Amino acid sequence: MHELTDSQWDALKVAWSGCAYCGATATPLQKDCVLPISRGGRYEVNNVVPCCRSCNTSKCNAEVTSWMRRKKLDERAFLLRQAEISASLATQTTEDVAQAECDDDVPA
Ligand SMILES: [Zn+2]
Repeated sequence: MHELTDSQWDALKVAWSGCAYCGATATPLQKDCVLPISRGGRYEVNNVVPCCRSCNTSKCNAEVTSWMRRKKLDERAFLLRQAEISASLATQTTEDVAQAECDDDVPA
């Protein structure tokens, strides 16, 4: 129902402008669930971030904050930014839905 759409994914990549975890930019970005699906996470805009292949492989199904600590990455900065970005994208999503409902009201 709230699965990540292609436009949300594009917006996520623009918002993060690189790997969400290590900041790498000169690398193809992959979708990573912050809270892994296997731990109850969902494939939604507020749980998906772009990340580089090396982070994605390393993190795998680990819990994000303990993994970032282990990698000596700044998990507080990440969580803060992730909250801001997902909040702003969630707002856009609501607007998209409202727009779609309006379109339905247009007579064929
Ligand atoms: Zn990375």
